[in-house]
Amino acid sequence: MSDFYIKTNRIFSPWRKYAWIFTLTVAIGGLWFPILGLLVLPVMIGLTGVSFFKGRYWCGNICPHGSLFDSLLYPITNNKKIPSFLKSKALGIIFFGYFSFNLGRKFIRVSGLWGNMMFWEKLGFIFVASYLMVTVVGGITSLTISSRTWCNFCPMGTLQKFSYKIGKFLGVNDKTDEKITVANTDMCHVCGKCSRVCPMQLTPYLEFSEENQFDSENCIRCSTCVENCPAGVLTLDNKYEALKIKESTNLFGYEYRKEFSSTIKSITEVNETINEYIFKFDNEDVKYKPGQFILVKIQSNPEMYRAYSISKFDEVNKTITVDVKKMEDGYGTGIIFNNFKKGNKVTLQGPMGHELLIDEKAKEVVLVAGGIGITPFRAIVKDLVEKDNNLEKFTLVYGANYENEFMFDEEFKKYAEASDKFNYVKVVAFDEDYEGEKGFVTDVLKNMDLNKNKIYMCGPPPMTNAAEKMLIDMNIPITDIAYESA
Ligand SMILES: Cc1cc2nc3c(=O)[nH]c(=O)nc-3n(C[C@H](O)[C@H](O)[C@H](O)COP(=O)(O)OP(=O)(O)OC[C@H]3O[C@@H](n4cnc5c(N)ncnc54)[C@H](O)[C@@H]3O)c2cc1C
Ligand code: SF4
Ligand code: SF4
Repeated sequence: MSDFYIKTNRIFSPWRKYAWIFTLTVAIGGLWFPILGLLVLPVMIGLTGVSFFKGRYWCGNICPHGSLFDSLLYPITNNKKIPSFLKSKALGIIFFGYFSFNLGRKFIRVSGLWGNMMFWEKLGFIFVASYLMVTVVGGITSLTISSRTWCNFCPMGTLQKFSYKIGKFLGVNDKTDEKITVANTDMCHVCGKCSRVCPMQLTPYLEFSEENQFDSENCIRCSTCVENCPAGVLTLDNKYEALKIKESTNLFGYEYRKEFSSTIKSITEVNETINEYIFKFDNEDVKYKPGQFILVKIQSNPEMYRAYSISKFDEVNKTITVDVKKMEDGYGTGIIFNNFKKGNKVTLQGPMGHELLIDEKAKEVVLVAGGIGITPFRAIVKDLVEKDNNLEKFTLVYGANYENEFMFDEEFKKYAEASDKFNYVKVVAFDEDYEGEKGFVTDVLKNMDLNKNKIYMCGPPPMTNAAEKMLIDMNIPITDIAYESA
């Protein structure tokens, strides 16, 4: 079974990337120059002040130990589940009590030296010793368990939670308190990625409040979930901005989302890495538009789904077809390929999605697919060929690495023969013997006259990103480009 928690490419500010130098300077350099420990005082004042206004923002963005865990140790951490007792409130409070008592005891002892030069050195050493202890214990738990294990019971984290509570009680941090905010829970894929990448191993997607915010005091506001959400529905905002986002979010394409049960009618191997699954459902009221996707439940605890574009929707026989590519080390596809069997009951949610809904007023359309990103276009092309519409012309540009990877090839060829409006262009990247177009989808697009077209793309992010950049350089208005990453 693949790991639940995944490592991601994190975006670091220069401070977040290099602040660990401060940690090592104080914790190790302080052994020779104890006076360096006095630098910890502004750190403690800073974190208490920042948390009063912004919760644990300090931990995720400023803390030098956080930088050590995220920037230096994260690439080599085991990234395992943090045991629940290390995340418990009780441990945080007990550890805070012990830490404060110990620090107080040492302060009293050193206070006898007040007025003597030794006072500052001895005081500095108290902080050096605690900084070194955090570096050692935090570093070991970071490597053996997960990068931010220490942060779950860090006394400074507990101090920040106290300070934040006071700020909240006094009602002075409403505007500065930015929390993880979801544009609308109806647009969330319940994929759990926000939880899988969260360094604190929290579950934002299961805990959004009525105000669409994640209220956990343990959230260190690091924005890792924001950067990794495949639905792009997360932001870091205060409660006023959250309300504005909630009111202004357009739910077009998500208005008929519903949960319903289904049975796996068939599983067909398309090729070595792709299986086709047909789900039969009884619900009378499933509303679908070509280009939409469905969420397939893969587990209940914690609840998680995976999004798959509907490649075929049969209203009469009440079936939904999806084609799933097995990902190396993929958590969800591991479950689907290993556990899903014909006759199994599977919960679905949807259909939903608006990115690939073809503009009914469009006269010319270009569909761009890469790899498994072809799946929604199977349903879209069928619809455009078979139903009346305003289109004068539409083209499918379909890129694959090798010729034998093209899916639904015969179907597209038949549609191209049946309709003189539809043009089917295949492009192969790495097959020297291929006789048709060679290269990437961008090589085909750059030679097309795209000015009157609406362009819809689906494929791996490197393809959609490269194509979008090129189309913008070709002066295609951004409003004429839509895409979904698969
Ligand atoms: C709207 C939409 C439509 C989609 N339609 C389709 C479709 O029609 N067909 C289809 O096949 N897919 C589709 N997808 C993708 C699909 O939802 C899943 O993301 C995909 O099946 C992979 O899921 P997974 O859980 O197996 O992979 P994950 O476990 O989420 O892994 C994703 C990637 O991360 C890597 N990874 C895994 N573990 C680690 C680790 N520990 N450290 C670092 N990296 C790691 C994996 O190698 C993989 O490349 C669609 C996605 C969206 C958003
Ligand atoms: S919920 Fe998001 S912002 Fe909060 S700690 Fe987890 S990844 Fe960071
Ligand atoms: S990462 Fe997935 S579960 Fe989390 S908010 Fe985004 S879509 Fe929802």
